[in-house]
Amino acid sequence: MEELRYQVDLLNAMNQRLTNDERMLRMICDTSNSAFLYVNLKANYVKTLANWNFYFPDVEIRDICDISKLYDQVEEKYMLTLRDLLLLEKNNLSSGNGIILLKDKKTWVECEVTIVCEEMNRPTDKIVRFKDISKLKKQNDDLTYMAYYDILTGLYNRNYFVRLLVDYVEKAKEENTVVSVMFIDIDDFKKINDGLGLLIGDEIVQLFGQFLSGFQNDNVVVSHFNADIYCIAIYDPFGSRSVESIYRKINERLKSPLRLSTGEDVMISVSVGVAEYPEAALNTLELINCAEIVMFKAKGEGKNAIKYFDAPILNDFLQNVTIENKLKEAVFNQNFTMHFQPQYYLDGNRLRGFEALIRWRDTDGRMISPTVFIPIAEKNGTIIPIGNFVMEESIRNFAKWKEEYHKPFVLSMNISAIQCRRDDFVDSLLNIIKKYEVDPAEIELEITESVLIENFKEITEKMAVLREYGIRISLDDFGTGYSSLSYLVDLPIDTLKIDKSFISTMLSDRNAKIIMDSIVYMVKKLGHETIAEGVETKEQLEYLKEIGCDCIQGFLLGKPLSVEDTKKLLDSVVG
Ligand code: C2E
Ligand code: CA
Ligand code: CA
Repeated sequence: MEELRYQVDLLNAMNQRLTNDERMLRMICDTSNSAFLYVNLKANYVKTLANWNFYFPDVEIRDICDISKLYDQVEEKYMLTLRDLLLLEKNNLSSGNGIILLKDKKTWVECEVTIVCEEMNRPTDKIVRFKDISKLKKQNDDLTYMAYYDILTGLYNRNYFVRLLVDYVEKAKEENTVVSVMFIDIDDFKKINDGLGLLIGDEIVQLFGQFLSGFQNDNVVVSHFNADIYCIAIYDPFGSRSVESIYRKINERLKSPLRLSTGEDVMISVSVGVAEYPEAALNTLELINCAEIVMFKAKGEGKNAIKYFDAPILNDFLQNVTIENKLKEAVFNQNFTMHFQPQYYLDGNRLRGFEALIRWRDTDGRMISPTVFIPIAEKNGTIIPIGNFVMEESIRNFAKWKEEYHKPFVLSMNISAIQCRRDDFVDSLLNIIKKYEVDPAEIELEITESVLIENFKEITEKMAVLREYGIRISLDDFGTGYSSLSYLVDLPIDTLKIDKSFISTMLSDRNAKIIMDSIVYMVKKLGHETIAEGVETKEQLEYLKEIGCDCIQGFLLGKPLSVEDTKKLLDSVVG
């Protein structure tokens, strides 16, 4: 009896333990967010466990034959994957896994199968686990997307574009064909951003990007590089996928405005640079660089244009880069000198004064023209120390000559807009004038017409201040750009320099002659002095005298002279 009670207690205890264990296992399964399918291969027994109804609410599996019902639960494309997994033991495999997409087209499930074997490797049990990995997959997809695409426009990003271009170039090498790269930049994008705000700027980039994406196909890759820059690569361009055709379509689209989400309309234009493999470069990055350089050229020539790569553009660019690097060194070492070109009154051929012209002798002895390096200096800011050097060095020499010869004459200096616009410009000029004790009335600043037009209000206000100190203002290169006589009326200037292009054509071109006559007549009426520059022949001189021009400057009467030669000239004319 005792023995029997003991046996019953033992059985109860074991039973309790089994119930606890089963409860524990069920809990583990339920909280695993997975669904399980257990198959006893020997007994042909099947059981579904855990979150089965969440994954497959309509699938009841009672015996082995029911398992095939699962095939209907997945997207057709994944049926084979699932079948291979569910029949794993037939291929003598003991484990395997794969990813499948359910019929709802949004649940991604990892299916993991484990086969348990007895001795002799005979399979006895099979455990299939289904796990929802949709969230993970999305994160993964987002990462992949970010690696390839630009979020703002949905176009390929720069890195991926470069990879695709590498493929195009390699293929073109094999097939002996061409790849074109179009570098597209929205004009005046900074003005758009400053004026309309960054969000509108972004929307414009997005809208235009969407339009460009229409060109994308197997042979055309469209990308958003950054900010307002897009790049298109075209494999074997011809017909509708030629650069010309794409550019024409872009221009047609941009004839009408982009409609913003606010309902506002914005007009934009673009500048495009084109470089082609193998003509421009053999290497992908160089190819993109070439297209960018050409795009800058298009911008420099007035924007809203397309420009094609050619060797001179690249040479100019490389020369500019070299000059830019050397320029900084030259500024540091002050490798500049001043030359002075005499100006004469036509009435009696008396010396009026000199125009100070800068000279740069490179370390290899070569002279670099100011027409080449001044624009570069204006861009990289070295024009400020260069301008200060010009003022200091010219006025210093001028003061010495004044002291020696005691004659009234004028020193003209060329002033760049960047220099003139600085807050400290007037003060630094006045300081130099004071330092060398020269009369401000004998100092003249030459400002070009184009500079004036671009910053009219700011520059004319400064000119008026300078004139209050007695400094003279001369309008340089008159006639090269705007030539509107009407705006001359209110300009605070003393002198007007008629550009050499007018002088060289005035005797051969009747229209130039008529314009010349009227300029001199009008300018005199306004009370300004006229100087004709670039006078090279006696005939030009006689004609200028005839129409009443006040002064001339040019190779006929004197080339720009070094400090020593200027002194010799002064010795001969006034000494
Ligand atoms: P610019 O102010 O129009 O100066 C006159 C230019 O014409 C000078 O060239 C001068 O040498 C040249 N020239 C004078 N007479 C004749 C002539 O009869 N025939 C021909 N064909 N040319 C003549 P340069 O010295 O090479 O200067 C070129 C330009 O560089 C200047 O044009 C000016 O815009 C700029 N530049 C020169 N020096 C300075 C400077 O110190 N500061 C700034 N900001 N610019 C300067
Ligand atoms: Ca000048
Ligand atoms: Ca000039």
